[in-house]
Amino acid sequence: MGTKARLSFEFFPAKNEATEVKLMQAVHGVAALSPDFVSVTYGAGGTTRDRTADAVRRIMAETSLAVATHMTCVDASRAEVDGVVAQFRTMGVRRFVALRGDPVAGVGSAYVAPRDGYANGADLCAAIAATGDGDISVSAYPEKHPESPDWDADIAMLKRKQDHGAARALTQFFFDCDFFERYVERARAAGVVIPIVPGVLPIHNFRQVASFAKRCGTSIPGWLGGRFDGVDADTDPAVHASLAVEIAVRQVELLRQRGHDELHFYTMNRADLVTAVCRQAGLVAASPSARHQPVTGAEAA
Ligand SMILES: Cc1cc2nc3c(=O)[nH]c(=O)nc-3n(C[C@H](O)[C@H](O)[C@H](O)COP(=O)(O)OP(=O)(O)OC[C@H]3O[C@@H](n4cnc5c(N)ncnc54)[C@H](O)[C@@H]3O)c2cc1C
Repeated sequence: MGTKARLSFEFFPAKNEATEVKLMQAVHGVAALSPDFVSVTYGAGGTTRDRTADAVRRIMAETSLAVATHMTCVDASRAEVDGVVAQFRTMGVRRFVALRGDPVAGVGSAYVAPRDGYANGADLCAAIAATGDGDISVSAYPEKHPESPDWDADIAMLKRKQDHGAARALTQFFFDCDFFERYVERARAAGVVIPIVPGVLPIHNFRQVASFAKRCGTSIPGWLGGRFDGVDADTDPAVHASLAVEIAVRQVELLRQRGHDELHFYTMNRADLVTAVCRQAGLVAASPSARHQPVTGAEAA
C-alpha cells in the first residue's frame, strides 16, 4: 500500500439554502483530503441544470479544487445537451462525467432514448470530446447495468466509451469486492485499458442504501444486512456512522491490497464519513485531532 491514493468525491446539487450550506461544508471538508477532483451530479432531463451549475460555480470560486460536472442525455435534444456543455465550458469547466441517465420516472423504469438526442453514455462522451480538450469520466457497473442484456453487451458499452474518449470509468457502488475484481478482468480481456475506479459508498443510512441498491442492481451481502440489523441511522446515528466507517475502511483496504489506487467516493454531501474512512484507511495523513475522534453521526441527512 505504498503508492499514494488518488481520490475523487461526488456531490449532488443543493435544493435550498439550508442544503447549500451543508453542501459547501462538505466540499470544504473533503478539500482537506487533497482530492484529484470533485464532481457534481446532474438530474435527469436537466432537472438540476441550474443548481448543478450553481454548485460547480461556487466550488470553483471558493476552493482550488478541480471540478467535474456530470451530464446526462435523458429527455433532452442533442442541441440542448450541447448548449449546456458549452455553458459549462464558458464557466471554465474542463472535466465532465458523461452519462445516459435514468428516466425522469426514476431508476428502474424503461429508458427511451430521445429521438433527436444522445442514446447513451458513449454517444455523449463522443459529443463532449468533440467540443474541445478536457477530461471525461464515464460510468461502469461491476454487477452489470440492470438494462444490459448480458456481460458482453455491458463490457462492449464500456469499450465504446473508451473508444469515444473516456479517460476513466467510475463505478457504481458495490459492497462485494469480488464483483469488482471480476468486472475489471472482463474489461481488460475485452481491451479496456483506462482506469476503472471503484465507487465507494460509506453507508450513511442502511435502509435508504439497501432500497436504492435494489433498484440499481447492487447486491447487499447477507453479512452486511446482519451488521446493520437493529442499527438505525435516525435513532442511533453514532453507532450507525461508526459501523459505516468500519465497513468502508475494510472495503478500501481490500481494494488497495489488490492494487487499486484510485478511488471515487459517494459523499451524500457529508464530509464526516468519507474523511474518517480516508484517514482510518491511511489514504491521507490522520490529523492529530481526528485520530482519536469518533464519528458522531451528527451530520446525518
Ligand atoms: C459514477 C456514476 C455517476 C452517476 N451520476 C449520475 C448523475 O449525475 N445523474 C443521473 O441522472 N444519473 C447518474 N448516474 C446513474 C446513471 O445515470 C444510471 O445508472 C443510468 O441507468 C445509466 O446511465 P449510464 O450512462 O451508465 O448508461 P449507459 O452506459 O449509456 O447505458 C447503460 C447500459 O444500457 C445498455 N445500453 C444503453 N444503450 C445501449 C445501446 N444503444 N445498445 C445496447 N445497449 C445499450 C448497455 O448495456 C449499457 O451498459 C451515475 C452512475 C454512476 C455509476
